[in-house]
Amino acid sequence: MVPMNAPRGKHARVLWALLLGAFVGAVCQMTLGSDHPGLQSFIKNFSSPVGKIFLNMIFMVVVPLLFSALVLGVAEIGEASRVGRIGLRSLALTLLLSGTAVVLGLAAVNFVRPGDGLPEAERQKLISHYAPSADVTKNVDQAKQAKSAADTIVDLIPRNPLDSAVKALEGGILPFMVFALIFGIALAGIEQEKAMPVRAFLEGLFAISLKIVEMAMSFAPIGVFALIFGTAATLGVSAFLALGKYALLVLAVLAIHQFGVYSLALKFIARRSPIAFFRSIREVMLTAFATSSSNATLPTALTTARDQVGLPTSISSFVLTIGATANQNGTALFEGITILFLAQFFGVSLDLGQQAMVMGLAILAGVGTAGVPGGAWPMIAIILVKIGVPAEAIGLCLGIDRILDMSRTVLNVTGDMVIATCVSTWEAKSEPALLD
Ligand code: ASP
Repeated sequence: MVPMNAPRGKHARVLWALLLGAFVGAVCQMTLGSDHPGLQSFIKNFSSPVGKIFLNMIFMVVVPLLFSALVLGVAEIGEASRVGRIGLRSLALTLLLSGTAVVLGLAAVNFVRPGDGLPEAERQKLISHYAPSADVTKNVDQAKQAKSAADTIVDLIPRNPLDSAVKALEGGILPFMVFALIFGIALAGIEQEKAMPVRAFLEGLFAISLKIVEMAMSFAPIGVFALIFGTAATLGVSAFLALGKYALLVLAVLAIHQFGVYSLALKFIARRSPIAFFRSIREVMLTAFATSSSNATLPTALTTARDQVGLPTSISSFVLTIGATANQNGTALFEGITILFLAQFFGVSLDLGQQAMVMGLAILAGVGTAGVPGGAWPMIAIILVKIGVPAEAIGLCLGIDRILDMSRTVLNVTGDMVIATCVSTWEAKSEPALLD
């Protein structure tokens, strides 16, 4: 995998773009009024198209990125389980920690409801600003169309995966993901010799997709300025209050998972002092925070696991390498909160079944999300469409994403280190001779 570094200056530029866009937009809204023809025409002909070009750069990569990441992730896990006990133990912990993260996120966002409270008239303005052509009511109705359980399962197995790929941004992604899962399992099950060229091709496709995400992200300051300017000029400051609440909620729940859930796992599974553990992986957490990239943090994680935490290399290199791609607890938690927040903001209420689907998809997102800055967004965009919220809604959150991305990446890599530590403890008990 290609490690990628996100220069710190870029984060600052996006933040400045957000503040500037919000400030200039709010001033225009207050002095001219949001219905001013000049302002309307500026939004329509300049800021909105620029924002859309930025978003389209992210959307265009959804299908290749998701396919290559999921297939490679599943194939790695598939091979891992063939490696036996270590693989199965890591997989069980991955599911447990990702599941807990998503449940925590969904519970918090349902309890705090940061997206509520926008008056209906403002909500309509918001919808027409972000997705003028989208009929949210129709989307929601379609998303909620009652289907029997049997039909729902049958529809998950695609008759034509290419057709599902074409409909990825109109809610057809789920069967395509199931295809990717089956493809990954099959890839892990065939002879090495035959699997190699396919794997090499998918690794190339994955690297190219990441490059496109990186290119889109380098355009982020302009894109974010344009999107936020339009929001502020249309809604004034009211949108930002909800956004602030959402950001604080994400940070609070990430902190609970990082220091609460991980501490419990360390104490009861690995029998280690959480404080000493967090102290020993300080450098890993800082690197993750600075780069916003699990992939870029992998080398630091590998050396810290060996030198500071004292884990056997045979286990840590295996668990950490797979974890950098396939275990992203922070991202799963973040995706759950973001999707429900945007659904609340756009007035889309989700029943229990749909929330369970969001939960399942967010856990899967832990496998399908690339460990690079902004890797979570393509996945969020498609889940949004799936539940009936226009994908363009992500424009609202992207402006404040840098700090949230830096923070969730810390969880992603800490989660890998925690799993490596727990698995090492289990292995030491069952077969001490296997360890270095
Ligand atoms: N930046 C995250 C990572 O590298 C992925 C994401 O959540 O955007 O782990």
